[in-house]
Amino acid sequence: MAGDIFADGWKATPYWWDLAPRPDWPSVDLPAEVDVAIVGSGYAGMSCALHLARAGRNVIILEAKEPGHGASSRSGGMAGSGLKLGYADLKAKYGQQRAVDLILETERSLEFFEEFMAGEQIQCHYQKVGRFIGAHAPSHYEAMARGIDEVKKEVGIDTGYMVPRAEQGSEIKTDLYYGGKVTGSGGGLHPAVYHQGVLDRVKAAGIPVAGHTPVTAIAREGEGFEVTTTRGKIKARNVAVMTNGYTPSAAQDLRRRLVPVGSYIIATEDIGEEKVTELFPNHRMIADTKAILYYYRPSPDRKRIIFGGRAKTRDVETAESGRILHKFMCGVFPELQDVKVTHSWTGNVAFAFDKLPHIGERDGIHYALACNGSGVVKQTYLGMKTALSIMGDPEGRTAFHDLEFTTIPFYDGNPWFLPIVQRWYQWRDARAR
Ligand SMILES: Cc1cc2nc3c(=O)[nH]c(=O)nc-3n(C[C@H](O)[C@H](O)[C@H](O)COP(=O)(O)OP(=O)(O)OC[C@H]3O[C@@H](n4cnc5c(N)ncnc54)[C@H](O)[C@@H]3O)c2cc1C
Repeated sequence: MAGDIFADGWKATPYWWDLAPRPDWPSVDLPAEVDVAIVGSGYAGMSCALHLARAGRNVIILEAKEPGHGASSRSGGMAGSGLKLGYADLKAKYGQQRAVDLILETERSLEFFEEFMAGEQIQCHYQKVGRFIGAHAPSHYEAMARGIDEVKKEVGIDTGYMVPRAEQGSEIKTDLYYGGKVTGSGGGLHPAVYHQGVLDRVKAAGIPVAGHTPVTAIAREGEGFEVTTTRGKIKARNVAVMTNGYTPSAAQDLRRRLVPVGSYIIATEDIGEEKVTELFPNHRMIADTKAILYYYRPSPDRKRIIFGGRAKTRDVETAESGRILHKFMCGVFPELQDVKVTHSWTGNVAFAFDKLPHIGERDGIHYALACNGSGVVKQTYLGMKTALSIMGDPEGRTAFHDLEFTTIPFYDGNPWFLPIVQRWYQWRDARAR
């Protein structure tokens, strides 16, 4: 299947794992009882565990595979404060006050995230380069410009500035967009090194991480829960489900509120810092306004391009997705036709039906789920907030707690409708131009 767009010896594993391989995890004896059992060892689970353990709680992290196997070591590493819905959509749906609260909550998530990394001294190639969002259509450009003004006026924060099409070469060497928006905050990091950094802090805090220990059932028992894993049972006063796009049937009531979606990425061969700088003059993270968007960026060493998106309406092998994403990338930068792909991989994100993050408690089980494609910052933040909620601290409350976590009738967590929805979005994207 693989042809000449692939470099010899290309890998179907994340580029990030070359520098931060998945840890070879020693097996951990399961304790009979803990204060809190956390399911999932991504950013959310580890952040939650760390904040609980530091407050004196006895915690265990249960992970189906090796630590960080999920999205947290696979992502594009783009760190920002945005939500999938813009301020105007939020206001139309929830009214002005709640829209303001939601926007301010995401702003706080980025502040927390940067403070957390600095406080923990996690060196993960974080570069505060901001983001450029390319307008897929002239109307999208106008909408983004209106959004900046509206947020400035009604929320009181500055979310960026517009760059017209005639000047977009200062941001990106492509003619594809009708100008775009620059967001100065946030930037990019190495997601697997970030994950490893948090995992090191978790280890230092003495928190056991039981890898290769999938949770198969969670049942109420007295005041707490009995958590069943393939390696035995644990009694826990509280349980936090932090499994996002990999949420298992053991948490079926949450799983049926999430739509897992495979996202695909490639890394190119080393094309040199000079070429990367020519294509990305400010080395920013890039996304666009399509419903089925592209997201891409320079690698942290600025020598490669990391390019992601949804390759097809159905899930595909990484050889096929690599080929498709290479084509998409050449649609942005036609001059990259001869550039080879060295890594092609995939991972799951989780969408909620309202496309917003969800945190809270259902039947006594705590959760922070539904990253909607952006969870580097927010899942770290919501993991911390979940820890505070478990400890009964009112500071654990967020604007996201007020959102209803809905599902649709007969949906069991298997998104059979995804190809149809994606075709609809693709049609809308094509029609917008
Ligand atoms: C390809 C891709 C690109 C992305 N790009 C970006 C980006 O550029 N910027 C951004 O902000 N976000 C991005 N994201 C999203 C971001 O990576 C996620 O939102 C974030 O990592 C989710 O963290 P988490 O801790 O909630 O879940 P995860 O990191 O997915 O962890 C969940 C864990 O739960 C475990 N698990 C599942 N079932 C069980 C079970 N039964 N028992 C025990 N453990 C279980 C899984 O094995 C997994 O390790 C991307 C995601 C993907 C997949």
